[in-house]
Amino acid sequence: MSDLFKLSIVVPCYNEEEVLPETTKELSQIVNGLIESRKISADSKIVYVDDGSKDKTWAMINNFSKEIDIVSGVKLSRNFGHQGALLAGVTSASKDSDAVITIDADLQDDVNAIPKMVDEYLNGAEVVYGVRNNRDTDTAFKRNTAEMFYKFMGFLGVHLVPDSADYRLMSQRACQVLLSYRERNLFLRGIVPLVGFKSAKVYYARKERFAGESKYPLRKMIKFAMDGITSFSIVPIKMIMGLGFFIVLVSLVLLIYSFIQKINGNVVDGWSSLMISIWALGGVQLISISVIGEYVGKIFSEVKQRPRFTIERDIYTEKTQKENKR
Ligand code: UDP
Ligand code: MG
Repeated sequence: MSDLFKLSIVVPCYNEEEVLPETTKELSQIVNGLIESRKISADSKIVYVDDGSKDKTWAMINNFSKEIDIVSGVKLSRNFGHQGALLAGVTSASKDSDAVITIDADLQDDVNAIPKMVDEYLNGAEVVYGVRNNRDTDTAFKRNTAEMFYKFMGFLGVHLVPDSADYRLMSQRACQVLLSYRERNLFLRGIVPLVGFKSAKVYYARKERFAGESKYPLRKMIKFAMDGITSFSIVPIKMIMGLGFFIVLVSLVLLIYSFIQKINGNVVDGWSSLMISIWALGGVQLISISVIGEYVGKIFSEVKQRPRFTIERDIYTEKTQKENKR
């Protein structure tokens, strides 16, 4: 076609009917602008991934892709979660796109950072992180928990790019490497830095959600954070080991102490020490077992090698095949 590179923009969507028209308008503007200024090829695409939405999301994606050349979509057979949807989109798009950008559907991530990412890519970066330079639009709760999370992850030895979420550009090669990480408990923003290659950062201001509600209730956020920790770090197990040694040491000291008391003929009223040790040790054991259980659970779900997503329909591939035949 041309020597310009093909860009795909992957957008995971879960019940996003309220925002899709506006998202389509803004993204099309950006993509068309890039095509006109001859930065990307004319067959570049927006790839919506319908993550098992219960509203009209897929019907809308389907219509848009009939009306607008640059819009396409992938439909998952059920809800696989944000990370699974991202991966499905990247899998389809990276087959024949030279670079893939992932962005949320709700327009919280500023679409004007896309041309900057493209420039970084043209300058040779294979991974371009979108980094937000403000958190004013988050609730204080989300802001604080996010900050604690990054600190804790750093403490555990997992180095994330702070304040970068799933808004980024990856070259085809970087996508391929990302897809070769076969784990089921997906925590993409932990894996992407492991991919390596030359990287760059693009700063942007994160806005309010355009419409609708967050699809990340507290329950999903906690699961996400737990996945991040236990998929990437065995420090919790090491901490238990340290705790165990410490408690053994304490009980040794107590043992020696009680022997001395015995030799001196002091009568020991053993009830409290007994009760305390039973409860303290019982508690510690329960915590330890639960942490180990977390890892065993991970092993359990990893060895099953279940598919991480299932595609029901792939308009992106249908369109590109048609275009390539032309
Ligand atoms: N999302 C998804 N599957 C889910 C939950 C969310 O594909 O199970 C998508 C959602 O449509 C949005 C993106 O993931 O495009 C981020 O979700 P959201 O904006 O609700 O999260 P927040 O910005 O509040 O963290
Ligand atoms: Mg959002």
